[in-house]
Amino acid sequence: PTPDAQAIHDVVIVGAGPAGLAAGIYCSRARLDTVIIDRNMAGGVIAVTELVENFPGFPGGISGFELADRLKRQAMQFGVDLREITAVTAINREKDDTYKIVTDQGEVRARAAILAPGREAKRSGIPGEEEFVGRGVSWCATCDGALYRGRTVAVVGGGDSAVEEGIFLTKFADKVYLVHRRDQLRAAEVAQERAFCNPKFEFVWDSIPRRIVGDDVVQELEVENVKTGELRGLPVNGVFFYIGNTPNTGFLKGIVDLDDGGYVVTDELLHTNLAGVYACGDARANPLKQIATAVGEGALAAMQAEHYLSAIACVIPGAKEAPGGAAPQPGPEG
Ligand code: NAP
Repeated sequence: PTPDAQAIHDVVIVGAGPAGLAAGIYCSRARLDTVIIDRNMAGGVIAVTELVENFPGFPGGISGFELADRLKRQAMQFGVDLREITAVTAINREKDDTYKIVTDQGEVRARAAILAPGREAKRSGIPGEEEFVGRGVSWCATCDGALYRGRTVAVVGGGDSAVEEGIFLTKFADKVYLVHRRDQLRAAEVAQERAFCNPKFEFVWDSIPRRIVGDDVVQELEVENVKTGELRGLPVNGVFFYIGNTPNTGFLKGIVDLDDGGYVVTDELLHTNLAGVYACGDARANPLKQIATAVGEGALAAMQAEHYLSAIACVIPGAKEAPGGAAPQPGPEG
């Protein structure tokens, strides 16, 4: 258990990606007693993004790792208590209307909660994918790209991640097959233009991966052309999957409203169905998953949490010490 398992904080933020850290900066500057819990290292998916070129204020771009580190330091500078855990298992609403976040490293209790758990890469489920993890299959070009110097890799997907990380892989690999299930990319135009003029790219259109073949390490990615049914073996040393994402919201099922894809449903002020619980960032059902929007949502969620805490402190004198009864204000009730 954490040293202060009995303590009731003002806000607990689940997730230390751009949304959670921005929320932490705003909460701590509002002098709220704020705990952020995060698994692995802070930063979320941007911490393993090679270069971020579209976050305003950084002409020339900034490495994802550095941006994550700056956000983290900024949050901690204002007093956020950042705790590393391995997994969040549940969120419970207690009788006194506080929330208890249960983790593998103990529990954290707070009067308000901001959910920013982010997302993780979707698995393709094809034969060989799990078998060759760490031996040629990867979801992180930044982490593993340098292992493929002078070699051939395949990148699967046609979105921003596939194209940008594919371009990054051309720094090392001699050849990058980009395998996409359609004949048009989804990625932003600027990324597409760069990929199309990069001589190391070979586009494998209208194709889906069928299986990964190898002995100790990956030797071939078999793909099927969805229009002709033709099978083709691509001779590769590595396969990088960027076929979309799954929100890290398993621990919220049955407690917080989720949409069919598992993303947290909120109103426009980021209230979930539970009073005093807000959601922001990539795990929220929103139309744009960008660092810029995640940061904005984090700020808005923090302000909503602050209003909520002021309201309960106001309606119930001494609520900060001994909250009780129904939560008096914001948020559609669950
Ligand atoms: P994404 O936009 O969801 O793209 C996933 C890609 O994988 C799509 O091209 C999709 O094909 C394909 N795909 C999906 N399921 C597949 C399957 N089972 N087999 C084969 N292919 C499959 O995911 P993402 O690229 O990771 O991006 C996620 C979000 O982050 C997006 O909103 C993106 O804009 C954002 N992002 C932004 C930046 C940036 O701004 N620099 C960088 C990275 C990510 P279809 O196209 O046919 O659907």
